[in-house]
Amino acid sequence: MCEFCHKHGEGKKWYLNSQLYAEDLLSDLGRRSYIRNFFTHPEHLNSSEAKLKTFKKAPAFVRAAVTPVMVNRQKKTHYGQVLPIEDIEEIFTFASSIIRLPCICRQATTGTEQRYCYGISLAPATDSRMLQLVREIDASYLNGPETGGLEVLGTQEALSSIRELETKGLCHSIWTFITPFIGGLCNCDRADCMAMRATVTHDFPVMFRSEYIARVDNDLCSGCRQCMRVCQFGAISYSIALNRAVIDPGKCFGCGICRSVCKNDAIALSARALEPAAALLW
Ligand code: SF4
Ligand code: SF4
Repeated sequence: MCEFCHKHGEGKKWYLNSQLYAEDLLSDLGRRSYIRNFFTHPEHLNSSEAKLKTFKKAPAFVRAAVTPVMVNRQKKTHYGQVLPIEDIEEIFTFASSIIRLPCICRQATTGTEQRYCYGISLAPATDSRMLQLVREIDASYLNGPETGGLEVLGTQEALSSIRELETKGLCHSIWTFITPFIGGLCNCDRADCMAMRATVTHDFPVMFRSEYIARVDNDLCSGCRQCMRVCQFGAISYSIALNRAVIDPGKCFGCGICRSVCKNDAIALSARALEPAAALLW
């Protein structure tokens, strides 16, 4: 279990604790202000990344001393965790309202409006503080064809949309906005997602790995390498000698995206806690 499971989930998966999505947490003015600022200015993400690039050039001893302090600070405000689709589906079953909205990362990195993010709430959609808050935000930076409104999705619609994003190779994640309130669910890739770039490219973790790890069944693997193509974390290599995929448990984030593209059903997720090489890696 990750440290948030112990702190916010009573030793169980913290993101399945429905109270962490509760509307009353949105009555906190500091949290409302944080969310408003976060979504109003996508350019702040680009300046944060520029700082990370500069920081990566600092001497190793400086990075080793400063990174844990900064990561701990990040954990108190906006921190995420990778989730496989079955856990996302479980969240969707208890969410009373699911709002699809444009991804602010893609707005910052590509200048395009991509509806890859979801706001989750326990209140009915029409009466949700989350919906009201998001509508209050100055979203004048949005420029795509569907800027007129945020989409309120029913459970089945949300499930089918997340399954479609999985087939595109996007990695699901959940996010706090002033921890422990969970305010959003994203679908990330390394090219355009700032969080994934920070974690994987700049060695500055802003999200936990999932509670799982992927394994390849050698008897089923045909060595087609489709899984390598979609792994956002560079965790899969190919053994020419064995003609099969090999997953590095030290790099696997347990997103399960490789599993969904494997036509031979050769990849399965198992509990991270049971894999000695990965049990303590978050
Ligand atoms: S997609 Fe499946 S069959 Fe193809 S290399 Fe990966 S594990 Fe093997
Ligand atoms: S190996 Fe599979 S489960 Fe692990 S990070 Fe890569 S795509 Fe995700």
